[in-house]
Amino acid sequence: MSGEETKELARRRKRVKLYKRIIIFIIISIIILPTVLCVILFCKMNSMHKEIRNLQAAFDNKDKVSDNKGNNVSQEETPGISDNTGTPNKADNPTKPDDGSYKEQTKPEETTSKDEPQTTEAETKDLSPTGQKQIVEKALAEGRKVVYLTFDDGPCGNTGNLLDALDAAGVKATFFINGHTGYEDQLKRMVEGGHTLAMHTYTHEYEHVYRNLDTFGEEITTLRQYIYEVTGLDTNIFRFPGGSSNSKAVLPISEYIAYLEKNNLVYYDWNVSSGDGSEGLTADQVYGNVMSGIERQDVSVVLMHDSVNKLSTYEAIPRIIESLQAIDALILPIAYDTTPVHHNVK
Ligand code: ZN
Repeated sequence: MSGEETKELARRRKRVKLYKRIIIFIIISIIILPTVLCVILFCKMNSMHKEIRNLQAAFDNKDKVSDNKGNNVSQEETPGISDNTGTPNKADNPTKPDDGSYKEQTKPEETTSKDEPQTTEAETKDLSPTGQKQIVEKALAEGRKVVYLTFDDGPCGNTGNLLDALDAAGVKATFFINGHTGYEDQLKRMVEGGHTLAMHTYTHEYEHVYRNLDTFGEEITTLRQYIYEVTGLDTNIFRFPGGSSNSKAVLPISEYIAYLEKNNLVYYDWNVSSGDGSEGLTADQVYGNVMSGIERQDVSVVLMHDSVNKLSTYEAIPRIIESLQAIDALILPIAYDTTPVHHNVK
């Protein structure tokens, strides 16, 4: 073998070696790559499973909230909330218009007194601002009146007509309801229609509502669960029966307020009363009370009642709305981040 040939042989061997390496590398890659990919996918799948399980748990918990019953409502109106006219609100600004449709009322955290089923997972509630503050500020800066029409003690046989009137006028209102069963369709209609559905205790029976913090909490939790069960809405907006200035509370009102705060509930009184808590008012009187109250201030939370015997209120409503629209008042439903009107009784 000449020296040339030996060199050639050595080169060839080298080449073969190189090819061998390449082939081995390719084979290894073919085996390892899918394995690695499999491992990665497996991990991903696991974490997704976990997420699904968490979500499922959240849903299950939500469903549990709707397990309660509790149906001993007194259909009777508790009459004669001697509505005080409350502290006037202090937004003093001049005005112009611009309408804002605002986000629908959102949800609070779980209330519950100790013996109620607690929704742990449901804490993922959307408490982002509704943007109502800016809309209100803008309206006030433009010299417009801001008005919240609120109806207590419903629903009842007239609620449908009231909703018709509000819808016809394109107005959203706030309903502080009690646990009067049998009007579930109206409650759904409120929520779907963009009105605010809020709590006014389950029974409205002063003696039970204010007996102690346990009965107070029970009244709220029962109603809250009922609303949730019917509409899917978990509301945190509340109004005291008789207002926070009522004379029926056994404990200092601050203790009930502390309970609300502890449970992330917001409460609203009113600073304009239609006076329809008293019997025998004419529609003209209701109209007059509401309009003169609104006249006095820039932001008005108007108290009215949605209950069968308040015919004057139902009669006055279209006229009230017409007059408010004529002066370009901004009529809004209460949202959980609406600046509250409180009677501020110690
Ligand atoms: Zn009431």
